[in-house]
Amino acid sequence: MTAQRIDGKSLAAQCRAELAERVAALRARGRPPALAVVLVGDDPASQIYVRNKISACAQAGIESQHHRFDADLRESELLARIHALNRDDSVHGILVQLPLPAHIHAQRVIEAISPRKDVDGFHVANAGALLVGQPGFRPCTPLGCMRMLEHIGLRDLRGRHAVVVGRSNIVGKPMALMLLERNATVTIAHSGTPDLAQTCRQADVLVAAVGRPRIIGAGMIKPGAAVIDVGINRLPDGSLCGDVDFEAASEVAAWITPVPGGVGPMTIAMLLSNTVQACEQV
Ligand code: NDP
Repeated sequence: MTAQRIDGKSLAAQCRAELAERVAALRARGRPPALAVVLVGDDPASQIYVRNKISACAQAGIESQHHRFDADLRESELLARIHALNRDDSVHGILVQLPLPAHIHAQRVIEAISPRKDVDGFHVANAGALLVGQPGFRPCTPLGCMRMLEHIGLRDLRGRHAVVVGRSNIVGKPMALMLLERNATVTIAHSGTPDLAQTCRQADVLVAAVGRPRIIGAGMIKPGAAVIDVGINRLPDGSLCGDVDFEAASEVAAWITPVPGGVGPMTIAMLLSNTVQACEQV
């Protein structure tokens, strides 16, 4: 079997086109959606992510503000800036680019963002809403993965086994909950899982969110599975690769996402979608 590629770039373009009408309607009412992006320090990868998010906003007709601070910014100052953005009616979404410098308590900063502006969906109020099945902002990466599964016809996952490798608060755990919401039987694997290969081989839907280049080989994939590769890893030669051995896995899976050009563009499209939703809900 040769897997079909799930093209995140073109699906993200489709999502952005769908958003354009909603953005135009908001603009016509004199309320352009606006996202504030906060970056502390000079981590090169974070700078690229922030640049991409800001340019995606511009292309979608969403206003953006870039708040950039030196790495030695005091936590109290950052919290004061977040509170000011919470009070600013012209800002609908607030995103703090992670990771933050070690002296700043990231969760405390996330909890300072108003849940109504928490377009990353990391605030405990939004995480709790996902847990109990209430409306709220869903984290962008898992949301993008779910859109990719819908795109290939996997909307209701009843009778299917989904395995998520990775249990971070921003990807693995919310991903597992969203799959559960769609009626999948869900397993979460992590560094303490005794036989990762055996666990992964049971997956009709396999989501890899580990951050280890090509940790998922062809022998870990069930024939005909849908494989969603969240991982972004930089190799010594500067190129990017995912957590899945794409070439080898393509011989076994039915569907697979590439890296780059898979989950990454969908994450940004979902950030735009959450920002528009935040503006509509004002
Ligand atoms: P974290 O480092 O927070 O979590 C990694 C998870 O992988 C942990 O739960 C860890 O287990 C697990 N893990 C580590 N080693 C193994 C192993 N050998 N076997 C099984 N599980 C293992 O990462 P994130 O969730 O933040 O990100 C994961 C990847 O996704 C990264 O490459 C990141 O760059 C990428 N990413 C991509 C995004 C996109 O838009 N495409 C967005 C966000 C992240 P344990 O908990 O036991 O330590």
